[in-house]
Amino acid sequence: MKVLVINAGSSSLKYQLMDPDTNEVYAKGLCERIGIDGRLTHKVPATNGKYEFEIPMPTHAEAIQAVLDALTNAEHGVIKSMDEIQAVGHRVVHGGEKFASSALLTQEVMDALEECIPLAPLHNPANITGIQACKKVMPGVPMVGVFDTAFHQTMPPKSYIYALPYEYYEEDKVRRYGFHGTSHKYVSGRAAAMLGKPIEELKIITCHLGNGSSVTAVDHGKSVDTSMGFTPLAGVPMGTRSGDLDAGILEYLMNKHGYDMAAMMNILNKKSGVLGISGVSSDFRDLENAAADGNERAALALEAFQYSVKKLVGAYAAAMGGVDAIVFTAGVGENDPATRMAVAGGLEFMGVKMDAAANNVRGKETVISAPDSKVKVLLIPTDEELMIARDTAEIVSKL
Ligand code: ADP
Repeated sequence: MKVLVINAGSSSLKYQLMDPDTNEVYAKGLCERIGIDGRLTHKVPATNGKYEFEIPMPTHAEAIQAVLDALTNAEHGVIKSMDEIQAVGHRVVHGGEKFASSALLTQEVMDALEECIPLAPLHNPANITGIQACKKVMPGVPMVGVFDTAFHQTMPPKSYIYALPYEYYEEDKVRRYGFHGTSHKYVSGRAAAMLGKPIEELKIITCHLGNGSSVTAVDHGKSVDTSMGFTPLAGVPMGTRSGDLDAGILEYLMNKHGYDMAAMMNILNKKSGVLGISGVSSDFRDLENAAADGNERAALALEAFQYSVKKLVGAYAAAMGGVDAIVFTAGVGENDPATRMAVAGGLEFMGVKMDAAANNVRGKETVISAPDSKVKVLLIPTDEELMIARDTAEIVSKL
């Protein structure tokens, strides 16, 4: 089955046309500057082709049309007609408490997504716009929503409840939701496959470390705790996001500097994290270079990030009463041996023994713990698009 995977942001739209049965990716690309002018980058893996176009994209509908035109183009296209696309899978950031799994995007589901907008005002409107544009340009093609929050809906109340007056949970839905669920689910499944054991027998800690980072405890295949919270601002320090902090800091800084809430949130979302500590960059490669050149704040930013992830590994091992595997994934997790070593090194007391030589690897499924390590440490590249395409094909094939 040929499935088109769409990940729509406010001014960008990523796409991938693939077959989830064979894992073959026919084409993928990115629309940028939607609503401004419009640029499309289209790649065809089979021929290593890369094509760039300036195409007016006043709205997401023109962007989707440009994607379909690129996919069916006589020269750089990969299908003869749009009819070959049997289903579309959309990434949706927030599914609230309504969605514990992927869902066919019926009108009822679209209405439920609208209800989730207040929970993710930055992300869900863009996702919804992308879906609506797609439905307009591809009427009759079944579409499925795959939610970043869905995998974490198995968390028990003790993990998701905030210690606030209970009515804020009951009436305002304030609770931990967690994000990156598609990635945590994918890599925990791959970890079980690599270890040759059913996931129902394993306790796994998955560390998705990228621009945004989150750590999840996956007990017997189910998410039982995760570091992001009500929003993706929580947890470990990230590229530009603060991660967890004492809420009292907000009042102090807002009073002292006269910030309003929007200015404060902008600081926490865009100017904090490793960028904020270092003053250098949100990119870990820049930080490592700066630290190697003697920049102490860049070194401190890396240390604070790594220490934060390490503490969660300990916490989740305690939460699950043990751990069989620790998984690293996403931009930093897949490419940065130093961070992996800083997080999983020195944990021999809990049965984790790293293999420095094996860890010196990038971007491919590898066991990076020593052969005699009781707890296996794994590097597993994430593949959220494949996961979205698989869920989409599964739901659509039952129609
Ligand atoms: P996103 O959360 O945007 O999907 P990614 O998972 O793509 O982010 O991760 C992007 C981050 O990965 C970059 O900001 C960079 O810090 C990090 N990264 C990529 N390559 C390397 C590398 N070779 N060494 C260290 N960090 C890297």
